[in-house]
Amino acid sequence: MRLFLKNQLFLLVLSVVIGGDLLLWSLKVPAITWADYTYSAVLIFLVVFEFVKPRNASWNYITKDGVKFRELSADVIFQVVEAAVVSAAVFAMSVWLADHIRSYFGLKHQVGLHWALQCVAAVFIMDFIRYWIHRWMHQVPLLWRIHSLHHMPERLGAMSTARGNPLDDVIIYSPELIVLFVLGFDKDVMLGLYSVVWIIPLITHSNVEFPVTRLASVFQLPTYHLIHHAYNDATTPTHNFAEILTFWDRVFGTFNAGPIGLDHRTGVVSDKPREWHREFFGWLYLPINRL
Ligand SMILES: [Zn+2]
Ligand SMILES: [Zn+2]
Repeated sequence: MRLFLKNQLFLLVLSVVIGGDLLLWSLKVPAITWADYTYSAVLIFLVVFEFVKPRNASWNYITKDGVKFRELSADVIFQVVEAAVVSAAVFAMSVWLADHIRSYFGLKHQVGLHWALQCVAAVFIMDFIRYWIHRWMHQVPLLWRIHSLHHMPERLGAMSTARGNPLDDVIIYSPELIVLFVLGFDKDVMLGLYSVVWIIPLITHSNVEFPVTRLASVFQLPTYHLIHHAYNDATTPTHNFAEILTFWDRVFGTFNAGPIGLDHRTGVVSDKPREWHREFFGWLYLPINRL
């Protein structure tokens, strides 16, 4: 049983989060707050896990060589700004736009599916949209200038998930939200779904060994996302662009299952030193300056 739980760590975390949501639902807690609970709980769990049993001990903030203040401070600030402020603003802005589109075209329909089926359909739709936008982020030079900030860290952890240009969030996540709400997916059901799917990037960026099993590999796992973050100069095509499922990467031929070793490097090739101001102000700096 212990071995099974260890092997299925990803599905275990996912099940606990879904169970937590169902509990919040039964307690009549408003769905708009669910993601605050699930995201914070999983982030704390992963940060503790990374400290106690890291995949790569040299990636911890505190090692025998000292404390990685630059990484720690950048990760904390981006978590607060991106995860707490930008994502809420992107959500509110997209709902507002979708509502206007619906009223402009006189759309009144709602998706009449059971909430569970709405979630399954929405996951495939949102992951398809994320897949293509993320792929273009790597292929179109101007978009890469925006997205490259997310690829700068040379070590990853759950706290690094939110590293990125606020525009990155707007460009990747607004289209799916607008599409889902214009199509008439239920807002409360989508809020519940987002409180689950938002934890997947936390897991995929974490410095925790999530075993790759046949069952778990339906979803994006840290191994796959580390391959996506492989150290390169953006001219080498990368893999694993989707954020939730491996399905679209498998369909479009960009799935790469690894394996990777402990010497796997992440980051962006640059002849410029990685200085503090470039980490913090990269979201302003990178769109107008070469890496
Ligand atoms: Zn990327
Ligand atoms: Zn990433």
